[in-house]
Amino acid sequence: MARINDNYLKLKAGYLFPEIGRRVKSFADANPAAKIIRLGIGDVTRPLPPAILEAFHKAVDDLGQSQTFHGYGPEQGYGFLIDVLIDKVYKPLGVNLHNGEIFISDGSKCDTANILDIFDLGNKVALGDPVYPVYNDTNVMIGRSGEADPKGYYQGLVYMPCLEENGFLPDFPTDKVDIIYLCFPNNPTGTTASREVLKKWVDFALANDAILFFDAAYEAFIVDPVLPRSIYEIEGAKQCAIEFRSFSKTAGFTGVRCAFTVVPDALTATNARGERIQLNRLWNRRQSTKFNGVSYPVQKAAAAVYSEQGWPQVKAIIDYYMENARIIRTGLQKAGLTVYGGENAPYLWLKTVGGLSSWDFFDKLLRECHVVGTPGSGFGPSGEGFFRLSAFGDRDNIEEAVARIRRNLA
Ligand SMILES: *Cc1c(COP(=O)(O)O)cnc(C)c1O
Repeated sequence: MARINDNYLKLKAGYLFPEIGRRVKSFADANPAAKIIRLGIGDVTRPLPPAILEAFHKAVDDLGQSQTFHGYGPEQGYGFLIDVLIDKVYKPLGVNLHNGEIFISDGSKCDTANILDIFDLGNKVALGDPVYPVYNDTNVMIGRSGEADPKGYYQGLVYMPCLEENGFLPDFPTDKVDIIYLCFPNNPTGTTASREVLKKWVDFALANDAILFFDAAYEAFIVDPVLPRSIYEIEGAKQCAIEFRSFSKTAGFTGVRCAFTVVPDALTATNARGERIQLNRLWNRRQSTKFNGVSYPVQKAAAAVYSEQGWPQVKAIIDYYMENARIIRTGLQKAGLTVYGGENAPYLWLKTVGGLSSWDFFDKLLRECHVVGTPGSGFGPSGEGFFRLSAFGDRDNIEEAVARIRRNLA
């Protein structure tokens, strides 16, 4: 008799986006003339820029010639891409990595989930609230939690509230924890962490022998030059942090699929006998066994992101999204709304008007402005009373949405 993994049954049904879809459809059916603008989803909209496309095409053509054909590549990723990341991404930040410390993959979503493979189930895990749901649900799936309580908190996981009162920067967990997820710039709140804030987390992790899972998927949207882009800019981080990065939001690769994870050689954790073991060794073994690498053309396209021609084209798209964010932020502030984020992140985190719940505000915005966003409560109980808008849309739509909100909600 085959038994299922019962942990999957603890998960609340994927509720947020289907429910948004249901409400939008029912409104659209009743109001066929309404031009609905969607500022809800966390997906990019601009096409790939020419230098990336050219590298992509050329690499596809390589596969059609026996001299340049590529079969299985290294599970850890091609050296040509890893070298680019070492030289163009990390060296300018003063961070020195070597090629065995970077692992190319097909996404940060998978990496943040798969990394759990190399850690014992007995580890106590802390995560933000609200949070990118993947961190929560993958810990439930693997069996680290009990059931969810009525609010949506799973027994056994440690939640760190990110509230207006703490500037959406979580306080240190009071329980003893072994693994801490951090995401800066943050999805969903758009909050960034200063060097001082990250230094406190690194010091906390070192003092408590905990590991930080640092998700920097939105690093490219940092505008302020004093903000750190990598956890490894903080002294001591190589002894306590794994960093997740992705080409998805940086370079429009959400459909192409390429990301990478940094596991420094200096990072260790204990085995059952209390001996220190290098995590890099375990992750390398995990990837070599369960993963067969990212396709050659995709890695060539990814390398072109940081080429002399590619980067200015990629940066222009990031600037376009960040101008969208500025338009939303200033426009909604003029409408009297309280708006967080959007300055160094493509997400804006609004306080709902009149103390409405996140879902009531969703309905109001849909009904009165024909604008769709994401209810903050969908990212965790502490997101209640907040609302996420994304800056990844089309400029004309963004301007129109902001004008409607100013007309109807101000
Ligand atoms: C979009 C996103 C990612 C990237 O996921 P991919 O699988 O690389 O597309 C990672 N973390 C967060 C918080 C995200 O929002």
